[in-house]
Amino acid sequence: MYAYEIIIQNHNTDIIHDAYTYLYFLEATGQIVRDKNLVSIENGLLTISVFTFEKDAFLKAYHDKYGWETKKEIESKIGTRIIYQQKGRDADNPHYSIPQNPSFLLFRFGWASPILSEDTYNPIPLYRLFNPWSENKIFDDIRYWDREYSRIFHLWISSGSYEAFAQKELKDINSALNKEGLKLCKEIEKLTRKPTFYHLFNNRTWSKNEDRNQKCPLCHGEWLIAGKNIDDAIAFKCEKCRLTSELSPDAV
Ligand SMILES: [Zn+2]
Repeated sequence: MYAYEIIIQNHNTDIIHDAYTYLYFLEATGQIVRDKNLVSIENGLLTISVFTFEKDAFLKAYHDKYGWETKKEIESKIGTRIIYQQKGRDADNPHYSIPQNPSFLLFRFGWASPILSEDTYNPIPLYRLFNPWSENKIFDDIRYWDREYSRIFHLWISSGSYEAFAQKELKDINSALNKEGLKLCKEIEKLTRKPTFYHLFNNRTWSKNEDRNQKCPLCHGEWLIAGKNIDDAIAFKCEKCRLTSELSPDAV
């Protein structure tokens, strides 16, 4: 991945609100990695440090129409172009490259992109999977699901009064959150024409035996993949239901 600075001249005008709107659209299409940006201001320059999946992330083709309109609005207000300056590689992911023609996709929360190549487990920026100029509703829908998932996931992580509630929402295949995730998987599969699996949360304090013997929660068929252990990102897989999961790290 690449570290970039988006530089906006800010003389005589306050474009901070437009800049945040622009960041929202860049995150929604996957042009910049979510929640990894820093906004600073000095000497009339607004500088936003971001990370991108590839060098060409700011091409017009990868913007959606709202992002492009916001960019043009900012440029018309400041009277000059926005500058995109590459600073180097992302030190955390210096060797990342976009997966080429993955055979399966995985939809799950908590990675640099919510869609991963199942073959390599590498994140794929959404603009590479969908056409931002004609399929932009999917960006909003994925963004909404991702935010909802994040809120519930962090309620679980904080281990407070809502921990049990949040854990149930995350592990229950029939929760509103997971139903929406499954619905989005079908939509992603339709648009990309690639089998797309939904990854189900599986942090449960039950026995290792119960964990290994669990069945697919949708069709109740066998879904443990032989030979998998706790380090494997995928230990359960149901082809029919397009569902994957991992062994519970909390099983005893
Ligand atoms: Zn199944």
